[in-house]
Amino acid sequence: MDELQRSLTKEDICTHYGDDYDRYLGAIVPPIFQNTLFTRKTMNHGYTYTRVSNPTTEIAEKKIAALEEGEEARCFSSGMAAITAALMSVLDKDSHIICPANVYAPTKAFLESYMSKFGVETTFVSGESTSEIEQALRPSTKAIYLETPLSNLFTLQDLQAIADIARAKGIVTIVDNTWATPLYQNPIALGIDIVVHSATKYMGGHSDILAGVMIGRKSVMEEISHRERGMFGAAMDPHQAWLLIRGLRTLPVRMRQHQESAMKAAAFLELHPMVQRVYYPGLASHPQYELGRRQMTGYSGLFSFVPKGNREQIMGFMKSLKLFEEGPSWGGFESLINTPGLWLDEDASARTGIPQGLVRLSIGLENTDSLLADLDDALRVMQRI
Ligand SMILES: *Cc1c(COP(=O)(O)O)cnc(C)c1O
Repeated sequence: MDELQRSLTKEDICTHYGDDYDRYLGAIVPPIFQNTLFTRKTMNHGYTYTRVSNPTTEIAEKKIAALEEGEEARCFSSGMAAITAALMSVLDKDSHIICPANVYAPTKAFLESYMSKFGVETTFVSGESTSEIEQALRPSTKAIYLETPLSNLFTLQDLQAIADIARAKGIVTIVDNTWATPLYQNPIALGIDIVVHSATKYMGGHSDILAGVMIGRKSVMEEISHRERGMFGAAMDPHQAWLLIRGLRTLPVRMRQHQESAMKAAAFLELHPMVQRVYYPGLASHPQYELGRRQMTGYSGLFSFVPKGNREQIMGFMKSLKLFEEGPSWGGFESLINTPGLWLDEDASARTGIPQGLVRLSIGLENTDSLLADLDDALRVMQRI
């Protein structure tokens, strides 16, 4: 991180840092370099081909590296493209990795059923206990992959403690920081090596782009750009980068609103007679509230809860919501509900630790009071079913 970055606030980085107005005729919004090739007969500008680098994409990368307090960032075509590139870069044939069992499902599937074909073994842990991670270490452990908070029950992993253990043994640590965004959690400052994001969620923020990003040391990012990004080819398209830059400009104000509404909604549900339990790291009742306060500076808008009702009643609750659409994504302007626990039988619930009936809300940018009233009305409907 250079001196300029250090003195800028996150808001300043989102609005102006990385933009180079003089270079582009004073345009306040950068042009989309929608070209694959950069010709070099008369100029040596350092660009050759958009899979390797692109001036529009680089503006997004500069902003995100600064926001994450990392040296450099690289954009990818999706969150999964960034995650799989990070994992492929650190895992060797027959190596071992430790990962929370309730990690984002495609990440789990990649480790469990894809990397296994190269002899990679994964130990899945809860992630809540650092000693459990320490006990899972083997001589062949190459990496510890984390995602905190996890996006079903919102349990946390202690980033600093795990980074300390890993660093002492030369093990690479990777964190999926999508939930907290670089505004509310900076794993690199706590000793983590590589941060990955699905920028499809809050960073893009408008439910109109798939995007991924990876942040880390310059030498590591340069190598990954030539190897995993260059060779697998999952680079970001310049138009996608331009929309990502637009999303970043308003990230701080959007996150403030997501946080305010989610905090109120979670507190409201926690006291509601038709609610069994709420899972949100921003509530003082969260079992790891203190750890959250230590490693995060804020909370985003995604959380879950268990309504007091059977399957039919919960379906009725979901259908009578007026401001929440149904769907599995999150982090956009729109409020969403999805039902990860609704169809679980007892066995599956015990195996995954996900309570039967769990529903997840992504709190969008609608009016806070309207959202609370909508939840209340729908819970009253549920009660009458
Ligand atoms: C959505 C998501 C991803 C995957 O991102 P894509 O951009 O959809 O590929 C990874 N991690 C988490 C926590 C996510 O929610």
